Parts: sequence; C-alpha cells; structure tokens
Amino acid sequence: LSARPAPYLEGLNAAQREAVEALDGPVLMLAGAGTGKTRALTTRIAHLLLLGKARPGQILAVTFTNKAAREMKNRVGRLLGEAVEGMPWLGTFHSISVKILRRHAELIGRDGLHLKPSFTILDTDDQLRVLKQIIQAEAIDEKKWTARWIASHIDNYKNRCLRPESVPASADFTVERIPGKFVTRKDGGPGHECSGIELYRQYQDRLLALNAVDFGDLLMHCVTLFQAHPDVLKQWQDRFRYILVDEYQDTNIAQYMWLRLLAQAHRNICCVGDDDQSIYGWRGAEVGNILRFEQDFPGARVIRLEQNYRSTPHILAAASGLIAANKGRLGKTLWTDAEDEGERVRLIGHWDSEAEARWIGEEIESFQGGHRASIGRVSLNDIAILVRASHQMRAFEDRFMTIGLPYRVIGGPRFYERQEIRDAMAYFRLVVSPADDLAFERIVNTPKRGLGDKAVQTIQTAARNNGVNLLEGARIVVEDGLIGGKGGAALREFVNGIGRWHADVLDSTVSHVELAERILDESGYTAMWQNEKSPDAPGRLDNLKELVKALEEFDNLQGFLEHVALVMDRDEGEVSEEVSIMTLHGAKGLEFPIVFLPGWEDGLFPSQRAMDESGTRGLEEERRLAYVGITRAERLATISFAGNRRLYGQWQSSMPSRFVDELPEDHVEVLTPPGLYGGGYGAAMAFAGANGGTDMHQRAAHADVYNSPGWKRMQANATLRKPPVQRTPVIIDAEPAAGYAVGDRVFHQKFGNGTVMGIAEDTLTVQFPTGFKTIKAAYLQPSGS
Ligand code: ATP
Ligand code: MG
Repeated sequence: LSARPAPYLEGLNAAQREAVEALDGPVLMLAGAGTGKTRALTTRIAHLLLLGKARPGQILAVTFTNKAAREMKNRVGRLLGEAVEGMPWLGTFHSISVKILRRHAELIGRDGLHLKPSFTILDTDDQLRVLKQIIQAEAIDEKKWTARWIASHIDNYKNRCLRPESVPASADFTVERIPGKFVTRKDGGPGHECSGIELYRQYQDRLLALNAVDFGDLLMHCVTLFQAHPDVLKQWQDRFRYILVDEYQDTNIAQYMWLRLLAQAHRNICCVGDDDQSIYGWRGAEVGNILRFEQDFPGARVIRLEQNYRSTPHILAAASGLIAANKGRLGKTLWTDAEDEGERVRLIGHWDSEAEARWIGEEIESFQGGHRASIGRVSLNDIAILVRASHQMRAFEDRFMTIGLPYRVIGGPRFYERQEIRDAMAYFRLVVSPADDLAFERIVNTPKRGLGDKAVQTIQTAARNNGVNLLEGARIVVEDGLIGGKGGAALREFVNGIGRWHADVLDSTVSHVELAERILDESGYTAMWQNEKSPDAPGRLDNLKELVKALEEFDNLQGFLEHVALVMDRDEGEVSEEVSIMTLHGAKGLEFPIVFLPGWEDGLFPSQRAMDESGTRGLEEERRLAYVGITRAERLATISFAGNRRLYGQWQSSMPSRFVDELPEDHVEVLTPPGLYGGGYGAAMAFAGANGGTDMHQRAAHADVYNSPGWKRMQANATLRKPPVQRTPVIIDAEPAAGYAVGDRVFHQKFGNGTVMGIAEDTLTVQFPTGFKTIKAAYLQPSGS
C-alpha cells in the first residue's frame, strides 16, 4: 500500500478509518446516531474487495431491512466506481437464511418427514390460519386464547431458538378447552387444560406436512442445521470469510446464535450498533448481545465514533437531552463541528389529528415554494413523516390525496396484503407448488364455483383418506364423480387449469409474466372483479395489473413469490418526487433533511402498553424510539401533538406526550397553530391539552382566554368541521383536584409558581419558569400571584 490513503478512505475520520482498516479479528463499533457507522461499514466492504481479501461472494453483510440492503449495495458500488457484480450475501437475516435453507432443506425435519427445497414461506395470515385449525381440533376456547396470542408465544420461542423439544417446562403456558369438550388423542386424551408446548409441537408438525416455514423458522432452522451438521456449518464458515452486521443492537438471540456459529472459526466479524437505538425489545431483541460480544469474542477491538455528521446542533442537542432521561445506557458523547446551529426543533399542538395533518400538508406546500431561508429549495423526497402507529397514516394519506401532494407509504398497509393481491398470489403459489394446501383453500371457491363448505369437506376427506394434498384430493373427487352438478364441473375445470399452468411453469419457453396474466384470466379471477359493481372494484383491477407488472422484474414465478414473502417494503419503481410516510421503526438507519414527528401524545407515544407496564423498560424503549425519530432529521425536525384523536373509530382527548416535557427547552421553538389566540408554548399546550371532553362553554367561563377572538374563531372552525362525536369523559368531574381551569395560577413546592395549561383527569400540565411539567393536581395549590 502506498503512503497516501485510497481516495475512498480520505473522507473518513480517524476512528472510522480504524474501523475500516481493522479487517481481521472481531470488531465492535459502538456509536450514536449519525456518526457514520453505516458509512464505515460500507467502506469496509469496499476495502475488503479492493485489497483482494475477499471476493463479493465471500462477504456476508447483514442489514435490517431490504431497503437498507439495497442502499448499501449502491454505496459499495459508488465507492468502487463500478457496479459490484453481485453481492449475493448482502441482505437481511431472513433473506440470507432462506438461501441457506433451500440448499439443505432435506436436513430439517423429523420422523421421516422433511422439508423440501421448494418450501413455502408463510406470512402472518397463513400462520394464523394454521393455528386456528389446531385450536379447533383441540377444542380450545378461542375467545380466551386467540390464535394471535398463541402465535406470539410461538414467535417468542423461535426468537430464542427454542424448538418444541427444547422449551424448558418453566416457559410453557397453559390454555383451556371449551368446558365439556374433549378430544380423543393417541395418548389417551387430554384433560381440561392443554400445554402451549404441545400446541407449538403440533404447529411445527403441521408446517412440516405443508412443506412450509414461518418467518421465525427461517432463523431457527438455520441454527438447528448448523448445530446438527458440523460439516454443513464448516462449509458456510469457509465461504463467509468476513461478516459484517449493521444495527446490531436489534438482533435477537436466534440471530445472535446464527452469527456466532458462522463467525466462530475465523472470528472476522464486525458489528456496528447503538444501544440508544435498540427498538425491537418487544420482538425479542437483546441489547445484552452488545455486551456479550466482548465475552464471546475475547480481544474484540471496540471502536467508538463520536462526531455526528447528520444533524444540526439544535437537533442533536434536543435528541441527546431526551435520551438522557433513560437510565440503562452505556452512555456516550456526541458532538458536531457544524457551525450553523440551524433551526430549533419545532413544537406545535393541534386541535385534532386532522388539523395536524392539514397543517403538515400546508407546511410541506410552503417548503415546495422554497420559502425557507434556512432550508432553501426542498424536494419532496427530502421530507419524511414518521409515525408511531400505522393507523396514524390514514389522516395524512387522506389529506395529501385531497391536496394532490405526492406521497408514498413505506412499509405501511402493504400492497401485498390487499385481498385481491393475496388471492392472486394464492393462485401463483398453488401453480408453483401444488402441495400448498393453504393456497388451495383460499382460492378453490374464489371466484364462486359453487363449491361450498360441504364440497370442500368432501375434498378434504378424499385427500386425507388417500394421504395426498388437497389438489390431488380434488382430482380424486373429480375422477370419482363425488361432487355432482355445476360444482363438480367447475372443480374439474379448476383442477385441470392448475395442472396446465403448472406444466407451463416448468416449461422454460413460456414467459412467466404472460402465464400470470393467463392464470388470472382463465381462472375467472379477473372477471370476478370486472363483474363486481362495488366502487372499489376498479382499484382492485389496477392493483392486479400492478402485480403483473411487478413480475417483470423477476426471472420466474418462484423468485417473485419468495421476494413477496420477504420484502416488507413496497417498491413501486422510480416516481420522481414524493413525501415519505413511514413508521418510526421503519425509519431506522435512514436520514431526511426535513422530518415531521406527529402524534406525540401519552397513550400513543409513549404507547398505552408501555405506560401500563410496571417498571420503566417499555417507556425507555419508547424513548429510544423518540431518539431514533429526532435523529433522522438533518436540518429541520417538527414535533406535534393533537388534543383529540380518533382511535378505532372513537374520538378521544389526549395529553401531550411526557417526552414533550423532556425536550430541553433551549433547543425547542414553540409554534402557535394557525387561527389561535395568543401565542407561545402555552397556547399550543392549552389548545391541545385542555379541550378534552368537557363542556367547553362551562370551562370558558373559567378562563379569559376563551373570550379572545382567536378562541371564537377556533370554535367557529370547530363547528364547521364535524365536532368530535364521542369522547372519554375527563376533566371537571366531582373531583376537587379538577377544580382548576386553564389559565389558573398554581404553586408547586419544587417548581414554584406556574400557569395551568392543560387538564386531564387528575393531572395538570403546568407552565413553570423552568419548563412544562405534567403533575398530579394533589401536589399543587392554587396561587394568587
Ligand atoms: P444511524 O445510527 O442513524 O444508523 P450511522 O451512524 O449509521 O447513523 P451514517 O448513516 O453512516 O450514520 O452517516 C450519517 C451521515 O453522515 C451520512 O449522510 C453520511 O454520509 C455522513 N458521514 C458519515 N461519515 C462522514 C464523514 N467522515 N465525513 C462526512 N460525512 C460523513
Ligand atoms: Mg446506520
């Protein structure tokens, strides 16, 4: 190597260079948001390739989302100045696991039953359907023990790599059968109760019989494979000379085991992460994996990055101030040498979630005109709206549709989860793998073929009696004439169709795109929607067209099906400019010049679940999520909350999030919602926090602000719009604690005199000279001054 560093190393700081150049042996890069972890990791890949330490196929690089994987591939390509020709092992844990499993599927299974390389990957819906069948067969009280609930237990086992035979008895759970209902089983019949492990076992057996795996299996089966077959493990260890992992803080135990097994031999593993951004604890991620790394890979080099290159000083300070409230942190310093402090983080309260969406829409339109000196010209691609819960998206989608603002929902209610898409996919699945019984069940009578429950039962019985799959069962039914009339004829046509299309899948001269179109036409599925009079039918036909279009990007149907099973985010090609709407979880690792963070209200963010939990674990995870949100912003971050929000069809009043109180005030600018009285933080808070559920006129009598022209204007607005229909009854009930009104002066032992800005049940939001606090009324006294 020459003394002068390669050009791609020149832009890095010393710590980053160390991380890039320490190629051999274990490396842990532990650093805060925006410090260039991902950039260092990407450069490391380029460095490995350029030094000839590894060929593209010998590098295993794991990212958390497909989007991140694509991004990384592009960045490596740019660094090398040419497209990397294939980085086949750069992807998510799941996508890489699928590839490994397909090669060794036969080694997974038991009692003579094994996976086949063509196995299907079930999504949540399929998973629940299988579980429901088991629940019914076991006569379990489904009202109390839902499929979803049991599925979450099974997922938990899988996140920890616990197979049915290895779950410790202490981790078992019990469900009850419907009183008086018992089932007869080989082992002499069960009692009233049924063990969770037993259900898990049955579920796994059923998946095996279906030649299917669920998401959790992908990792668990790989680990099982590596553990049970040292020769196979060795083969993969030899292949992957270097292992790199981004967003390491979010790995769960199964993923950790997977990594450790693969890295054990050569120990060339580099993990980067940030404990403050660990946001998947609810899915089994273990921040402890960061600490275990140094134990499992003794002598690991730990590199810390402290310079943030992404955000302005105000944004960085606001985020750092907020996360400082968390107790369980490794702790680290973050600094930036940016000279321009930038704009403060903006905070604004709104009347309701629709006003919030309207205001954000207007803000974005004003940016488009390029009015902001501090930001300059903005492309819609520079703007993101990051929500806590996906139900928040609808208000924005509706609003943006109305004003014609282009947007895309990333990872939201997904394209591939729509009914017509799922139906079409079921056709493709069955055509590709005729043994896919779930797909068969979904479409055998869609469109209507006159095959009701009874007909389906006949097919099931034929299949069971002959030990074949449902499609074969149907063939037998047709041949034996077990179903007569129209239904029988339709079934014959259906079975013949699947057979014909299946032959076409195997015929390499047939284009899979044309075949897909033909399947939808000849099966009568397209016609079903063409004949449908409902207003959403045209949209569904468009979606089907889009589906066929999406197929063009793939070599064959099977590749496409795999893609859909894995890909979480929707890809719709290049549209020139769009605002991105996504969840905070989905935004991890990404950055945008302008970020909106709506819905900062207690019960939404932090979530009710986190608030109800005893201890601070849940709350701390929510706070980390808030930290992730703010640190996505490069130049402008805007936090907002609404005083009323429709949740599951009901209006509820809400208090500003406790995280709002925790923002360091020096770095926050409070905006006044348009058309409101007064100004400043107080107005925003009062507006949002204090309106919930009471008779406004009654409260207006208590506070002078309500006589202001602004208030009246706002009320007029409120009547123009539909007023909230149903609200939770809060404020001013018989409780003496609630004898306060907005605008009252109060005194607190520690914080001194303040003004009441918001009221909810027995809690008040009070503006003290030192900032805003949400406090139980019992700790306050009225004050004259
Ligand atoms: P996160 O924790 O959010 O995933 P990160 O640590 O992975 O953040 P990157 O996304 O790699 O950070 O980098 C943040 C931004 O800083 C990117 O725009 C990147 O290009 C830029 N950046 C990183 N390192 C440098 C550097 N040495 N000089 C200039 N810009 C840099
Ligand atoms: Mg990153």
